[in-house]
Parts: sequence; C-alpha cells; structure tokens
Amino acid sequence: MMTSTASLSPSPAGAGIFSTPTLASDPRHLLGLEGRTREDLLALLDAAAHERDHLRAGGPDRSDLAGCVVMLAFIEDSTRTRTSFDIAARRLGAQTIAFSASASSLNKGESLLDTARLFEAMGAQLLVVRHSVSGAAAYLAQRLPRMAVINAGDGMHEHPTQGLLDLLTLRDHWKGQFEGRRLVIVGDIAHSRVARSAIAGLTVLGAQVTVCGPETLIPADVEALGCWRATTLDEALEGADGVMALRLQRERMEKGLLPALGEYASRFGVTPARVRLMKPGAPVMHPGPVTRGVDLPCEVADGESSVVLEQVANGVAVRCAVLQRAWSAWKAVHR
Ligand code: ASP
Repeated sequence: MMTSTASLSPSPAGAGIFSTPTLASDPRHLLGLEGRTREDLLALLDAAAHERDHLRAGGPDRSDLAGCVVMLAFIEDSTRTRTSFDIAARRLGAQTIAFSASASSLNKGESLLDTARLFEAMGAQLLVVRHSVSGAAAYLAQRLPRMAVINAGDGMHEHPTQGLLDLLTLRDHWKGQFEGRRLVIVGDIAHSRVARSAIAGLTVLGAQVTVCGPETLIPADVEALGCWRATTLDEALEGADGVMALRLQRERMEKGLLPALGEYASRFGVTPARVRLMKPGAPVMHPGPVTRGVDLPCEVADGESSVVLEQVANGVAVRCAVLQRAWSAWKAVHR
C-alpha cells in the first residue's frame, strides 16, 4: 500500500542551518533546490539546455567567465561532479583551482572557514564546495561576503546541480511535461542528498515521486517531503515513468543499517523484469557511482533503458548554466 501525507519541510532538521531566505534568494549562491519556484527551476533548465546546444555544436571555448577564479573545494570524494564543474568552468573561460583536503592545511587542523577565507582573500570569486556535513555550503555562504557559493553536495542534505541534471534528463524523456509523471527512487533514501534534491525539484514541477528501499534506509517521515512510500519495488514500478536507483552509502551508515547485499539486490535491484513493469521507454537513472550487480545489474546499467551517461553529459551543461548565473550575479554585486 502506498501512503502520502501533507508536505512539511524537506530538510532533515529544519531549514535554518541549510539556508536562510536571504541566502536562498541571492542569485550568487546555489545551496539547494528546496524552496525554489517552478519559474526559477524552469529558467535554470532552459539555460542548461541552451548551454548543451553550445557544447554539442562543438564550437570554440568561450570567454564569458574571463577574469573569474573558481575554487573547487571537494572535501569529500568525487569523480563526476568535480570533473564536470572543472570542464564547465574552463569551457566558459574561467580559471579553476582544485583544492583537496588531503594535500592542504586542513590536515594540520585549519578550519574549513579559515581555509575558505584564504580563497576569498586571494581574490577567488566562486567557491564550489562539497563537504560531508549537511549545511556546510550555507555556513560558508553566510560568512564569506565576497564569494558566490555553489553546493556540490553537503552531507545528507542536498546536491542541487545533480538535481538539476536529473530534471533536465527527465524533461527530455518526458517531452517537457512533468505534470502527471511519476519517478520511483529506490535504495538508500535516508543518506541520499541526490534523492532530496530530486524530490524537491520534481514535486515543485508537478511530478510525483515514489520511494522504496529497506525500512532502515527510508526516513521515518519521508512522506513529509511530499512523496509516496511503496512497500515493494514491483508495486512502485508498476506503470511508473522512470526509476532512479541509488547506491548504498556505507560511508554515512551506522552499523546495523545495511542489509545483506544478496538480499538487497534481490529485493531492490532494478532487474530487466522490473524495468518492464514501467511504461515503455521509461528511463533508468543512477547518479553514480553504480555498484554493479547490486543497485543495477550489468544488463540494465548497459541496456537501452539506461540514461546514466546522458545524465553525466547533462551535468556539464547544468554546471555551465549555474556558473554563468553565479558569475553574472557576483559581478552585479561586486563590480
Ligand atoms: N555521487 C552522488 C553524491 O555525491 C551519489 C553517491 O555518492 O552515491 O551524492
């Protein structure tokens, strides 16, 4: 049986530590998708689609971000997000500086804020930050008056550029129509910032979200995010317009939450038979990294329903659009 209740705040512990009305409405920053209007989301998707046309046309690199220094501060591991921000920034003519925890004074006990203040003092204008603590991006945005902050994933809170690339991918497959569509998100919802951003964006745009996974990995109040909970994956997928599988985020789990992998794969793996329960042509998504044979069997990960690499390509376009917006807003305030 699926259940749904009224939508309360999607934030796990109240909105205050993740953003404030002033930060959320400041176009220099992108801290989350929660609370954004439909118009704002659609404008970002249009801008990303426009950037994608440029990228696909394969023209020369541009100079829109000439004079802009982008700090890529990934204090947590990343492959796709860091690389695509780097590619996007360079294609637009920015200078990028990659900063990692292991090769820096963070290792010597310097705080994240003191480190970020160095970037600001050195004249970097944009800070793309990933951190294991929920609220880290908002914390920095509040304290760095001369920097635009883009959240590249903060703990279990949000991953807004992933949310936007997921929306762009679904918009393509859903022929521009979000209303009346339903996406299933399966797996470790409790620890997933990707799920939070997707749910926030999709519900504003009029689509429904059904979540499914082991009970220990679904937040008790998940319906408060505005989505539905299904008990079995088969029930969830019946007639759905798409599915997003998630990895088990062991690095964020307390002991005892993780089910046996074989049992997990048989109950929650998106098998070819399960793909056939959805509407014909419904896309299979995954934010990566994929644990093959667990979240997705190889034949589905590499099969014709999989749009995983489309998501990756859309990630560069989305990050171009987000960087453009942050830089224009930064210049409007500081120049
Ligand atoms: N790459 C995504 C994230 O950073 C998903 C994952 O790690 O499973 O949240």
